[in-house]
Amino acid sequence: MSSNTKILSVLGATGSIGVNALNVVRSYPDLYRIKYLSAHSQADLLIEQALEFSPSAVSIGDPDQYGKVKQALPGVEVLQGRSGLLELAGRDDVDTMLNALVGSAGMEPTIKSIQASVDIALSNKESLVMAGDFINGLLEKHNVNLFPVDSEHSAIWQCLVGEAPEDIKRLVVTGSGGPFRTLPIESFADITIAQALKHPNWAMGRKITIDSATMMNKGLEVIEARWLFHLPADKIDIVVHPQSIIHSMVEFLDGSVKAQLGIPDMKIPIQYALSYPRHLKQDWEQLDLAKVGTLTFEEPDLEKFKCIQLAFDALEQGGSVPVVLNVANEEAVYRFLDGEIPFNSIPELITKAIDAHEFIEHPNLDDILALERWTQAFIKRS
Ligand code: MG
Repeated sequence: MSSNTKILSVLGATGSIGVNALNVVRSYPDLYRIKYLSAHSQADLLIEQALEFSPSAVSIGDPDQYGKVKQALPGVEVLQGRSGLLELAGRDDVDTMLNALVGSAGMEPTIKSIQASVDIALSNKESLVMAGDFINGLLEKHNVNLFPVDSEHSAIWQCLVGEAPEDIKRLVVTGSGGPFRTLPIESFADITIAQALKHPNWAMGRKITIDSATMMNKGLEVIEARWLFHLPADKIDIVVHPQSIIHSMVEFLDGSVKAQLGIPDMKIPIQYALSYPRHLKQDWEQLDLAKVGTLTFEEPDLEKFKCIQLAFDALEQGGSVPVVLNVANEEAVYRFLDGEIPFNSIPELITKAIDAHEFIEHPNLDDILALERWTQAFIKRS
């Protein structure tokens, strides 16, 4: 192990982001070493990963799988449940924690890691959507870096290397438009789970794939960008770009626009978050613009994709509203995936929850966690 080996903790190791991150680690064994891994319920894959990467501890979310993991990994510390995850997130003997957890459950691990003065490669956008202001304060206090993994934010980050923040005119977050970009609004009530899970460009987990279909994902990304890049909502725009080749852009005061391009594959932003400021060589598929041929752009349809406007409104109202927006969305998405509500009920339920909740101007961590529980219960019974 050389002196510039980065010690990593990968939380959410068995999801698509975690698996891709371990591919990067596998290709640069001198640069990275895995110290901790966590998984929600995929015990077999976690065991396989642990046997390959020899972490000193792992955590399995599902307590029913604990015995199996424990038995398969003698000599490895095995933790379990929510407390095991938070314990790993709070350990200070790693250089970078990759937060590849899904949904609002990823927020507290982000906070624990910052409090332990560990840099974060953040894939869990919900952390910043729910607690962006709070997290930014903590980052400053503990002098911790937060490196975005989300492809749009990685693109903006790359465009901003060497630039003066005061020269930024606006950020342009691109989005594919999802599978229903051209579907008439009259058909939205009939959208099936299978249709919504079929993303045209990106292979991702179920929750974010539905978020892409409603375009709430783009709304959440605008909120994420607001906290990552310290810019108000009126300096962040969305443009639909169905080919997903330009991953986002920055426009400067002189009218110059920088864009970051690449194949639509999370491998690149995942690696950059771990290798920054370097772009390390990989032999994976490279961008062939002549083959792509055409790049097109259009305005997002806010009538059809109501979640985008809900997110902009939540950002403007601030305080507790983005917390409720995020949790209500998450619960509504799971109800849709369980076949309990139609696709177009997702924005309706979110609106109901935001209207019904008791507004808090500056929520602290306890407020945020209490609001999370309230919103989950509200959506479950709505
Ligand atoms: Mg994204």
